Amino acid sequence: MAAVRPLVAGNWKMNGLAESLGQVDLLLDRIMAGARLDIDIMICPPATLIRPMAERLEGIPIAVGGQDCHMEVSGAHTGDVSAEMLADAGAVAAIVGHSERRSDHGESDAIVKAKAQAAHRAGLTAIVCVGETEAQRRAGDTLDVVGGQVAGSLPDNASASDTIIAYEPVWAIGTGLTPTEDDVAEVHGAIRSQLCELLGTGEGAGMRILYGGSVKPDNAAALMAIDNVNGALVGGASLKADDFYGILEVYGAK
Ligand code: PEP
Repeated sequence: MAAVRPLVAGNWKMNGLAESLGQVDLLLDRIMAGARLDIDIMICPPATLIRPMAERLEGIPIAVGGQDCHMEVSGAHTGDVSAEMLADAGAVAAIVGHSERRSDHGESDAIVKAKAQAAHRAGLTAIVCVGETEAQRRAGDTLDVVGGQVAGSLPDNASASDTIIAYEPVWAIGTGLTPTEDDVAEVHGAIRSQLCELLGTGEGAGMRILYGGSVKPDNAAALMAIDNVNGALVGGASLKADDFYGILEVYGAK
């Protein structure tokens, strides 16, 4: 079976003004000066920066994604952005179900699934986030919680080419804490088995499963070497070109 091509995606969250596009220029400088990176790279800026970033990156193999999308195409949903709008602005993917959306906006698995399907409707790759809280981990419920989120959030007819899972333990996001390598391997292995059961071994084995939660240049190599970790979803460390490149560098050509 062909190896799963890794993806490292940066999630800028609600950070970034026009001047922040300078970080993209710095990142390009680092990439051009470094070893060949045999991976896919994506940046998910706030919606306001999708078009200028996509224009800046035209012809350069760094994709631009959105951080969320509404499930409808258009309508009376003040402040929301549809998947079609993201695509129109130059995005090729949308993160859905990030834990900050699930907690701040009360998004259920059913809502996340509808958003993932909206992403597909607009031709975007859906990056579906799942992950347990600290209390759920302490209670020994991690695999049940994550398994339930995968089952409930995965869009209909998901395939390896249009859907990515991001395992992000909620307690590891922005905290500097990370699970042990064994814990990451256990959860990613369980997600892989579940995807193979739900989608068949072809699609299930080929679907990327990213790890997210305090990935930094100094822990990236260990995290990215774990079985069934097919890249990273990176928050804080994606905001500075040097840090983000330090994570990408893990995938430099040998
Ligand atoms: C995230 O928000 O997706 C994330 C992983 O954040 P951080 O890398 O800052 O923990």
